[in-house]
Amino acid sequence: MLYDNLEVKNGRLFFAGADTVSLAKKHGTPLYLMDEELIRRRCREYRDALSEAAAPGSMAIYASKACCFAGIYKIISEEGLGADLVSPGEIYTAKKAGFPMENAYFQGNNKTDGDIEFAIDCGVGYFVCDGLDELEALDRIAGEKGITQKILLRVTPGIDPHTYDEVATGKVDSKFGIAIETGQAIEAVGIALSKPNLRLEGIHCHVGSMVFDSDVFVRSAAVMLEFIAEIKKILNFSVKILDLGGGYGVKYYQGQGELDIPANIRQVCGFVAERSNELGIGVPALRLEPGRSIVADAGITLYSVGAVKKITGYKNYVSVDGGMTDNPRYALYGSKYTVLTANKADREPALTADLVGRCCESGDIIQPGVRFPADIARGDIVAVLTTGAYNYSMASNYNRVPRPPIVMISGGEDRVAVRRESFDDLISNDIILE
Ligand SMILES: *Cc1c(COP(=O)(O)O)cnc(C)c1O
Repeated sequence: MLYDNLEVKNGRLFFAGADTVSLAKKHGTPLYLMDEELIRRRCREYRDALSEAAAPGSMAIYASKACCFAGIYKIISEEGLGADLVSPGEIYTAKKAGFPMENAYFQGNNKTDGDIEFAIDCGVGYFVCDGLDELEALDRIAGEKGITQKILLRVTPGIDPHTYDEVATGKVDSKFGIAIETGQAIEAVGIALSKPNLRLEGIHCHVGSMVFDSDVFVRSAAVMLEFIAEIKKILNFSVKILDLGGGYGVKYYQGQGELDIPANIRQVCGFVAERSNELGIGVPALRLEPGRSIVADAGITLYSVGAVKKITGYKNYVSVDGGMTDNPRYALYGSKYTVLTANKADREPALTADLVGRCCESGDIIQPGVRFPADIARGDIVAVLTTGAYNYSMASNYNRVPRPPIVMISGGEDRVAVRRESFDDLISNDIILE
């Protein structure tokens, strides 16, 4: 099995100790399931590795965009993680869920004045400032509100993380951050320090997602520490926080590369301490911003099989009752997934078919070339694994398909964390014109 929270009993797939076929019957399909204990375990792996090996005051921050709903904030705050928030909608969700906003970090390359005001009013602890006009706007608005806002400055270290172009964000020509290479970053630090209503606490970078190269974070830390040393030399300012962003990859299929994340964190921490000493700067407190690696393998999606179409001599299709509306990742990135037939989990795969959704779009493919049991048929339950990250948070109502619920499993017990959208939810903002 791909992960140790999966097992097959009497031909049925069990997830986090719960029978997926029964859960599909009880809650309906499509259905997102999340293993709460695994989310907590992943949080603790980050927290423990950092408290063991990084400077005091270091912290992991959950990148909410991977999967944002009210219930997740209780879990991550109980596990001692901060929260990355990229929009007023995420800020609102975290605040309503009772998240301690002093541990919230507001990210994004284009925060409007309205966003900035809202975030300050919600008490967001840190802004991760992405450019000069944000520094100007934030300083002005913080001044109007009579506060001093703590900030990190996002820079691009010019590191290629060897991942997909769509998720590589740390290169010099990225839309995110300010380039170190061009001299604009050091200039921006000077400007940030001159702003009366801003307090610069640290420097931030995020080089990309689905990182498996064990040296990516060491390489970006190397560039960032040199930059911190330059700041000290030129501006006589000691940077307290080094935020290296998120991006650790997770395993979606058997045979894919793997990285021991806690071991890699310890290695990065060791490097940061050693290199800081060489450069004669204080060892900065670290921030890491995992999104995917906290929730991806804690989630699976269940679907009911509908039409099974065999085009003789060409191709086979297994259609399910969800699709790109609940999981657009194959359509967006060609992402690979492992697919199991939950109620026939012990049968030999004998039929190759594309697993497709119900949308009016040929690109509505969840995964091509899946191996199914020969007798796959209407009414069977299909499980797509590793859907905890960037599925629910990227879901849409295309074709007016309601979004599925999220059911959390803990100690073998299931409870609804997000209810299924109703048709009335779908039309709740529509006005019937006279
Ligand atoms: C997306 C993002 C993350 C999380 O990335 P993962 O690959 O999900 O770990 C962290 N920080 C920033 C700034 C991001 O944009």
